[in-house]
Formats: sequence, structure tokens, C-alpha cells
Amino acid sequence: MTITPTFSRTLKCPCCSNSFSTVNVRISYPKTVEVSTDFCVTYQDEVNSPYLYYVNVCNLCGYAFTKNSSLISSISKAIIQKEVSEKWRPRSFGDIRSVEDAITCYKLAIYCSILKNEKYYILAGLLLRVSWLYRKLNNQVEEERFMLKTVEAYKKSYDIAEYVGSEMSEIRVLFLIGELSRRCKLYEDAISHFSKIVAHSNAQLEKGIVEKARQQWQITREEAKKH
Ligand SMILES: [Zn+2]
Repeated sequence: MTITPTFSRTLKCPCCSNSFSTVNVRISYPKTVEVSTDFCVTYQDEVNSPYLYYVNVCNLCGYAFTKNSSLISSISKAIIQKEVSEKWRPRSFGDIRSVEDAITCYKLAIYCSILKNEKYYILAGLLLRVSWLYRKLNNQVEEERFMLKTVEAYKKSYDIAEYVGSEMSEIRVLFLIGELSRRCKLYEDAISHFSKIVAHSNAQLEKGIVEKARQQWQITREEAKKH
């Protein structure tokens, strides 16, 4: 028997308690071909990329969430019901998804994240993935628009250090602000964030990413000279 790359599973909606089916990629399946400087993975089989199935969407109420979403409070539930569910026409994303379908799912998750007042670094993670998916579609205008939104969200997160205790470190947040700014040709911003990493008091603890920051800082300086 051949094992398929994906499988269906049933989830219970945290907002309306409806049970719905969603597709997941088997953990053992994806083979990484390349990781970009902003951590976007290219898989050997992009048709079955885990990025396509990261967001779960309830077919009945439209609530969209991921494994990293915060729990939904009763106040948030009421807001989601009013702003999402009342306008939602039952629609399932529980089957094989195209990149375009996945982008729709992420946009729903972004809207729900904003309605829930979720932490900025969680929102930024969703925005960043949308920019990656547009990159995969070669849509540079939308890719850049979402990179700029990601930078904005990470800057807000950095200003209030809200990622303390999460899997995001300050250096990682600074790196992403720097690298996404570079990709958007905002060279001064990129340089100022890379320089903060190199001078950071935790630089010794995260040598790998500090080294990457040094390399990207050098690349940014060269690119800035050409513009
Ligand atoms: Zn629901």
C-alpha cells in the first residue's frame, strides 16, 4: 500500500464547537530543498507543502486558526460570531488546497487574529507566510505588500517585547525586521536592525543567526550602494 503525502483529520472548532475535516501533510513527508534568508522553505514537492495546510478553517462559522493561535475567550467568540460568522456562507477548505486557496485561509486567520487582539508576533507569522506564498506565485507586488505588513507587526512586537517566553527571541525578531526591510529595499532600516543584532548582549548565545545578520548586513551595504 502506498502511503499518501496527506491525510484528513477531524477537528473541533474552538469558536462554535462544530466538527470539521481538514487535510494535513504527514510529518515524515516533506523534504527540504532550500531555506531562504527569511526562512521560507522550498520543499521537494511543493504541491504537498505543509504551508498550504497550516491554517484550519471551520466550514460552519468561518473561524480560522493555527496550532499557534491563542485560545479564544468568550468576548472574542462574540466578536468573531458578529464579524465573521454572520457574514460567512458555509464553505469548506477541508480538501486539497491550491496556493490561492491557502492564501484565502491565511487571510481569514489574519482577520481572526486581529479581531482577537492576538499578539503581534503571532500575526506577523501569518503575514510572513502570506508573503512567501505570493513569492511562490511570483506575485512580487503582493509579496512586498505582505512583507511590509510583517515588518510593521514585528516592530510593534519588538517595541513592547511581547515575545518574551515564546519561541521567538529578540534577535530573531530583529533579524526578520532587517531581512524583510532589505528585501523591500529599505536599506537604512535593514542596516540599523542588523547592527543591533551584532551588538546585542545575547549575541554569544545565538551565534548562527548573528553570523547570518553579519552576512546580510554586508549584502545590504553592497545593494544600497547600487541604488
Ligand atoms: Zn466554527
